[in-house]
Order: sequence, then structure tokens, then C-alpha cells
Amino acid sequence: RGDSDEPVIPFAQPGSMTRVYAVASGKGGVGKSSVTVNLAAAMADKGLSVGVVDADIYGHSVPRMLGTDEKPTKVDDMIMPPQSHGVKLISIGMFTPGNTPVVWRGPMLHRALQQFLADVFWGDLDILLLDLPPGTGDIAISVAQLIPNAELLVVTTPQQAASEVAERAGAISLQTRQRLAGVIENMSWMDMPDGSRMDLFGSGGGQIVADSLAKSVGGNVPLLGQIPIDTRLREGGDAGMPLVLSEPESSAGAALRAVAEKL
Ligand code: ADP
Repeated sequence: RGDSDEPVIPFAQPGSMTRVYAVASGKGGVGKSSVTVNLAAAMADKGLSVGVVDADIYGHSVPRMLGTDEKPTKVDDMIMPPQSHGVKLISIGMFTPGNTPVVWRGPMLHRALQQFLADVFWGDLDILLLDLPPGTGDIAISVAQLIPNAELLVVTTPQQAASEVAERAGAISLQTRQRLAGVIENMSWMDMPDGSRMDLFGSGGGQIVADSLAKSVGGNVPLLGQIPIDTRLREGGDAGMPLVLSEPESSAGAALRAVAEKL
């Protein structure tokens, strides 16, 4: 700890070598956690040192998706994060008994996140991914305050209605002055047995969000990838085995790996 009462967050220090990505979405259910976990697993598989903070306090699902129910241990004053598929992770779910719903308010969430960043022994990370709760809530502001150098990744579906809310989630970077690393479109289409693509949720949303955010920040906001729908992605999430590891050659697995390459 530093001289002041504020805990020291290593990732926010000048000269920190860790790239921090906050993964945001406008609404729930668009695959934000699935994307986060698969990106993390793909990067760890490449040999990078990767950590994930499950900051989706109300919908924490990262431990299950990474296939661990291990609890963190304490060494001296530090919390040692469990590791799975080469990814270090910490989740609010590890500190609540059973399936207890979390009913915390903003200030407590801020402190929880602060602890995850300052009191967890992450070691030297190349990459830290933060799975944010959906929307433009308190946690996104907290992240910006605690790690101003965190870059924002926006996950959306191709649906126009979804893209409008995703834009709002991304536009928060205007206020917080965070860099927008890009947009990831998930559930983009389904590959049909005859080789055609079925646009279950419409099309174009990812590009719309990227273009509109680029316009508002006055810079380049790339559409980093389009991830098709694949039932194996969901099954892998439920079974704790990320698709990028079990089916790296599948179109969804390859698309996720390609995004990981760009970060
Ligand atoms: P969020 O974090 O945005 O709430 P999740 O990652 O929990 O979303 O995903 C919601 C559900 O959709 C999960 O059951 C997940 O397995 C499934 N899912 C996400 N992306 C895909 C995809 N590309 N193909 C198939 N199922 C997906």
C-alpha cells in the first residue's frame, strides 16, 4: 500500500506493462462473458499471462465458463486468484456463499472492484480483462476512475435495437476519456448445413456501433470481429471449456482467436 489510504493498483501505475480491457455491452445476454472468457483463454493459449476480473457483479458467470469452483486463498495480505486454462481469475461469486444474489450498492461495488485490482496477487500480467456488468452503470465509472488507461471493448449483437444500447455503453468513453479498442459483434449468423448463413438476429449492428462510436470520439473504432452462433460455444461455456480451446478450427472459435490476435 502507498502512503495515502488509497490502495495502490499496479495496473494504473505509470510504466505498467499490462494492457487492460474492460468488456462492456449495452444489455445482458449478448455474449459479453462468453467473449471475455474465450479471448482470455485464446491469449493464455498463445503464452500470454492473462487475468480476468469478473466485475459483472450481478451476473457473475466467469468461473463456471472457465470451469473452476476453486476459492481464492490468502497469503499474507494478498488474495491468490484461482487459475484455470492458464487464466487467473477473480469473481465476486467466489466471496458469496452458494448462489446468494448480490444486492450491493454502488459504493460497495466500487470497493469490491478496488480490492480485486489492488489486493489480488496477479503477478506480471500481459493482459487483464474486466467483464463489466451490462449497461452504463457504476462499475464502468469505477473502472475509469481506478484504471484510467483501461481500454473499452464493446460487445453487441447484429440487431439494430441492440446496437443503439451498445452505442450508449461505448459512448461512456467520451466522458471517461478512455480509449475505445473496438467493437465485437456476437451471434452474427448461424452457419447452415448447406453452407448458407442464417442471420438470426439481423445484420449490420456491429458495424453501425463501430461507425457511430468512431464518429462520436472522432477517431478510429474498428469492428474487431464477427462471431457466429455455435451451440458448442454455449455448451463449452456451461461445461467450463472455452470453444477456442476445444474447437479452435470452428468458425466461431477461429473468429474469437482472430480477435484475440488483434488485442
Ligand atoms: P452476457 O455476458 O452478455 O450476459 P453470456 O456470455 O452469458 O452473455 O451469453 C448469454 C448466453 O448466450 C449464454 O448461454 C451463452 O452460452 C450463449 N452464447 C453467447 N454467445 C454465443 C454464440 N456465439 N453462440 C451460441 N451461444 C452463445
